[in-house]
Amino acid sequence: MELKKGIPVSPGIVIGQVFVLDTEEIRIPQRFIEKEEIDPELARFECAIVLAEKNLAREIKKVGKKIGVASQILEIHHQLLRDSILQSEIQKGIRENQYTAEYAVSRVLNRYIKQLQSMDSPIIAERIHDLYDIERLILNTLLGGRVETLQTLEESVVLIARNLTPSQAASLDPKLVTGFATDVGGKTSHTAIMARALGIPAVVALENISTSVAGGDVVIIDGFRGVVILDPDKRTLAEYRDKVQDVERVAIRLKKQIGLVSETIDGYSIDVKANIELPQEVHSAVSLGAAGIGLFRTEFIHLDSARPDEEFHFNHYRAVLRELGDQPLTIRTLDLGGDKSTDEFAFNEENPFLGCRSIRYCFSRPDVFRVQLRAILRASALGRVKLMIPMIGAVSELEKAQHMIEQVCEELQSEGIAYDPDIEIGMMVEVPSAAITADMFASRVKFFSVGTNDLIQYSLAVDRTNEHVAELYDPVHPAVLRLLVQTLDAAEKSEIDVSLCGEMGAEPLFLPLLVGLGFRCLSVTPQRIPEVKQVIRSIQVNEAARLADRCLAMCDGFAVTRELRDWSRQNLPDIGYVW
Ligand code: PEP
Ligand code: MG
Repeated sequence: MELKKGIPVSPGIVIGQVFVLDTEEIRIPQRFIEKEEIDPELARFECAIVLAEKNLAREIKKVGKKIGVASQILEIHHQLLRDSILQSEIQKGIRENQYTAEYAVSRVLNRYIKQLQSMDSPIIAERIHDLYDIERLILNTLLGGRVETLQTLEESVVLIARNLTPSQAASLDPKLVTGFATDVGGKTSHTAIMARALGIPAVVALENISTSVAGGDVVIIDGFRGVVILDPDKRTLAEYRDKVQDVERVAIRLKKQIGLVSETIDGYSIDVKANIELPQEVHSAVSLGAAGIGLFRTEFIHLDSARPDEEFHFNHYRAVLRELGDQPLTIRTLDLGGDKSTDEFAFNEENPFLGCRSIRYCFSRPDVFRVQLRAILRASALGRVKLMIPMIGAVSELEKAQHMIEQVCEELQSEGIAYDPDIEIGMMVEVPSAAITADMFASRVKFFSVGTNDLIQYSLAVDRTNEHVAELYDPVHPAVLRLLVQTLDAAEKSEIDVSLCGEMGAEPLFLPLLVGLGFRCLSVTPQRIPEVKQVIRSIQVNEAARLADRCLAMCDGFAVTRELRDWSRQNLPDIGYVW
């Protein structure tokens, strides 16, 4: 048995068999062989090459006359297959490191791929695709009919990977992938957010988990404590089976919150809305009692389809509105970039979170932006739609976006297409410059939504996805609290709505502080709504305000966290299991 500690990013406990996501979603069932298996393994590899060559030769013959380019590509693959350096490196891996043939192929080709990726050239990018193809080809041959991919899983597994992109996470089927653990990542990365949205336990930043397990191993993922237990002994398994039952009991208790009003003990109403990434989440948001959608992260529409057109966008928004009835839907315009990119939208940047992300990207691609704006505005004729612009850092940016929206409105008007002329336009406050000058923005928008995930990373200079600096990512750092106060004050003076849609809004520990600071609207992952409501219903606003005052006077985040822990232990005894 071995226990590995990482960062808990999605609560829950799961015990299951491992599926290692090694390469392009092909499962490598075993990594190492015994000494006496080396020669047969080398022979197996050689047979696989011969077979792959034969298959390829057949393909070349088939497409040859019809499609010239395709046959050229296949020819390149053929040459790569025969490449003696590549072959001897793979053989060396089998002979010297006792790798299985599959694992040796995957390691060697991945090393080449990484080298090419670092060269950042479109011509070389093509060669990377070739190497991926070759890898798939040999692996498919080696694994024969046993190729198992994420798409062909038949039994539930626990996914272990070096990294998962947000779009890979978005495509997981929670019935089959019951939890995941990765080597890298941070608590507010979009992959982590996706795990919470899917309601599957997850732990990240485990450093080398992906090379410490093999397919079929049994592991426990504890998404509360951020622990993964490899090869658990009988006692640990029994303990964790009990814990799973405890979690189920708590979940049943929490469900009772769904029909209750979201109100503090002293009668202040706190709106709890849902953050969604995919339209299919809206159903659970509504059934878990969300008072509307406070954040629809529409970039996942782009991760889903290479080039979504206006209809594709519109159909997504219409589907969400249908489920929502007369509840409001806040659609955030594209926030691509940062940790969210696709083959189509690849951003080769040194510092992607400080680069051409979000509204900056939309300004650089007005064609892409306009398509989405048209779809949002058309949807506004069907329900209570609000339009929200992310990553605004300067008034000029806001005005530029507003100008583009006006142009699209005029366009729709001249085409006789319906939209809501009074649609509320608001902005995310997630860049420190926007929070510091919130008064200048407040008179220009209808609402603010504070994106603490980014506000924290940008104000503390801590990459939200980087496990090496995760300790510095402090939601209650005095600087962050002051930015929250400034934003709330500006919103109050201009009498505009303000909500908070970052992940800290779903943390029971922070809720009394946020309510005490003055937040009356939160938007959180749907699965967290019952728990958030339960905390809200245990708070008295005047006490929370005094707590907030004490926190604001503290000059370090650790002291604030201690204060919040003590307060919660005394005032929220029922909910203490979470921490
Ligand atoms: C945020 O930054 O807090 C936010 C809600 O947006 P995202 O997590 O999508 O960047
Ligand atoms: Mg953000």
